[in-house]
Amino acid sequence: MDHFQLKNGTLHAEGVPLTRIAEDVGTPVYVYSRATLERHAQVFRDGIAPVGKSHIAFAIKSNPNRAVLRVLAKQGYGADVVSGGEISRAIAAGMRPEDVVFSGVGKTRAELEQALDTGIGQFNIELEEEGVVLAQIAASKGMTASATLRVNPDVDAGTHAKISTGKKENKFGVAIDQAPAIFDRLAKLPGLNLRGVALHIGSQLFDLDPLEAAYARVGQLVADLRAMGHGIDRVDLGGGLGVPYKTSENPPSPADYGQMVARVTKGWDAMLMFEPGRVIVGNAGVLLTKVIWVKPGVINPYVIVDAAMNDLARPAMYDAWHDFAAVTPNGEKMVANIAGPVCESGDTFAMGREIDRVSSGDLAVFRTAGAYGATMASTYNSRPLVPEVMVDGDDYAVVADRIAAETILAAERIPSWLE
Ligand SMILES: *Cc1c(COP(=O)(O)O)cnc(C)c1O
Repeated sequence: MDHFQLKNGTLHAEGVPLTRIAEDVGTPVYVYSRATLERHAQVFRDGIAPVGKSHIAFAIKSNPNRAVLRVLAKQGYGADVVSGGEISRAIAAGMRPEDVVFSGVGKTRAELEQALDTGIGQFNIELEEEGVVLAQIAASKGMTASATLRVNPDVDAGTHAKISTGKKENKFGVAIDQAPAIFDRLAKLPGLNLRGVALHIGSQLFDLDPLEAAYARVGQLVADLRAMGHGIDRVDLGGGLGVPYKTSENPPSPADYGQMVARVTKGWDAMLMFEPGRVIVGNAGVLLTKVIWVKPGVINPYVIVDAAMNDLARPAMYDAWHDFAAVTPNGEKMVANIAGPVCESGDTFAMGREIDRVSSGDLAVFRTAGAYGATMASTYNSRPLVPEVMVDGDDYAVVADRIAAETILAAERIPSWLE
């Protein structure tokens, strides 16, 4: 459920008509609903209640906006981060350092050091050498890094290849059959408190079976590690729960997921960590756009909107679907292609789709754009960086400015030897 609904014929975010935001802020613009974010945060927390002791670290790469993070921090969420920049964001948004988990296959020495100095709660180590280097840096500072070893359970998550992360050929984690030996060597290092294991098999998952299979494998690993004499007090189960991008889609709910986790982790006697991203923010945001032209086409007309692949990359990157809806629908439908202004054929949001009839100047939204939307935006084609707005009841605030093409141009230099 979300708070983007038609009221008196106009699409609103909570109590604010999207026409008002378009008029004040311009388009394209991302619009987030605070009430939806809070609701999703609560639904996820309630869903995993049956598992017992747990910690939720929001995967902030899915939506790193500071205001979004603040809403989730107020809900008691920590952060799963994948870069030094994301550590800074989590702290700037008011998250506690001990609630931050640092994942990622390419953490640099500088980032490991920054994370230690910040006092983050958990490092998810992705390869043996990373663990050795982390232990050295920590020991040299007289510190002990709290860590888990990320394993690759070799299961097919059944999602898009570009967001699959748990098959043996993927770059993430150590192979699960090598994990006991690597764990054994790393656990001996001063500077490291290796206390558990972590996994994350992919994103936009619609089937709980691969997750359950992966968790069962990790449960066996935990038992094996304990039999070797290692103390295991936490297991990080990652994120990945899917969201409906079409109204007809019906992914497992956080409650379904929580019941599965409770069943498969029964008797583990460890704190369980969760790293949801998409399921928290996906349906809490839309990308508001304006139709520039309706261009006649050979087969279908092209609705050319002022949002493009640089603002919302998912359709170009993953062939992803985003529902398209007019802000003031007139009840009529049309079959059209939807594309942005960028000079690539990949800058196409939909082909031959039945949509609300729109004309030049009309406003429309791409739905379910709160996750992996603004965070992936670029300035390709020298377009401005897309702004973000958060709605709270009848009120709204700009939570990220539009960054003008001129501002970006001003950061470039012509060297003296070219003048
Ligand atoms: C991206 C990512 C997540 C979040 O995935 P969602 O599908 O958005 O829930 C969680 N953990 C790790 C390690 C990730 O890389």
